[in-house]
Amino acid sequence: MRAFLLTRLVAAGAIVVSCAAGTAAFTPAAIAQTAVADVIVPPAPKPAVPKPTPAKQLFGSKDRPADLKPRAIGFYSRGCLAGGQALPIDGPAWQAMRLSRNRNWGHPNLIKLIERLATDAKREDDWPGLLVGDLTQPRGGPMLSGHASHQIGLDADIWLTPMPDRRLSWAERETTSAVSMLADTLSVDPKVFTTKHVKLIQRAASYPEVERIGVNPAIKLALCRAEGGDKPWLQKIQGWPGHHYHMHIRIKCPENSDGCTGQGPPTHTSCAHAEKWYRDTKAWLEQPKKPKPKTEAKKPSKPKPEVTLTDLPNACEDVLAAASAGSPKNQIEHVLAPARKPVSRAAAVSPTR
Ligand SMILES: [Zn+2]
Repeated sequence: MRAFLLTRLVAAGAIVVSCAAGTAAFTPAAIAQTAVADVIVPPAPKPAVPKPTPAKQLFGSKDRPADLKPRAIGFYSRGCLAGGQALPIDGPAWQAMRLSRNRNWGHPNLIKLIERLATDAKREDDWPGLLVGDLTQPRGGPMLSGHASHQIGLDADIWLTPMPDRRLSWAERETTSAVSMLADTLSVDPKVFTTKHVKLIQRAASYPEVERIGVNPAIKLALCRAEGGDKPWLQKIQGWPGHHYHMHIRIKCPENSDGCTGQGPPTHTSCAHAEKWYRDTKAWLEQPKKPKPKTEAKKPSKPKPEVTLTDLPNACEDVLAAASAGSPKNQIEHVLAPARKPVSRAAAVSPTR
């Protein structure tokens, strides 16, 4: 561009020299003016529009909750959480697992529910205590790994493995594997899945704020058979693929959470539906499998566009921008931790809206 401009001006200068003895129209000033006016400036290349930072990086980099009134904002799989509260990592009847993920946060209603379930199940049902998996991040929102839901602080994964009668170390909470309840695709393992599990899940379903509980379809079937058919509490239990080592508890939108979009009670939860799942799946498994015809290699499908802040409710922008609540040192850091890695902030840049 600069070279282009210079070339044109030098050319104009040459005219000045050759026409120096001419009329006033060829004065150096006039020629210079002509030269400038005559310069054709090629259009500037469009500046590259920076891609907005994926929301999972913005929310995943927040290690403390927003100092705002507690509020679940949006839908379970598209939203965020204001005023998140931490589930203490140890309680009289629970221990939180996978502490490095910093996902022991939730709406106060969820925290209250877990504490109540843990203590009720221990006292009433002889369940030794809960191992609590992921709730959500301090400010909810999309996560860097794992769940599509768990974004508004109203979902909890509760392991179906009973809590041991000792306090687990940090390392054990990171590496202990949950035990699958299944013997095979169709059925639970009776040595692992016991009447105590039935009672625990029933206890969880008994609270009015619990709207649905997701368990593997084989576990749903086992519950139906253990209960001898439909019971009102079983209507809250939904067969979800996976979920063979934990139950996923989802609670209703809290009353004071403006902008929380509920889901309503689940459908297709009758025991007849569970038995149909059994018959259909069994028939499918028993079908002789035909060798797959060779097909041309499929083109890799386009990756889904990243969820950004503009895809979330507007209030999530305020949640992200709010000051942090609580002490800078999360309780986790000085209980068990052998040098907890700080959450990287490198990826977190200002939102674009
Ligand atoms: Zn879950």
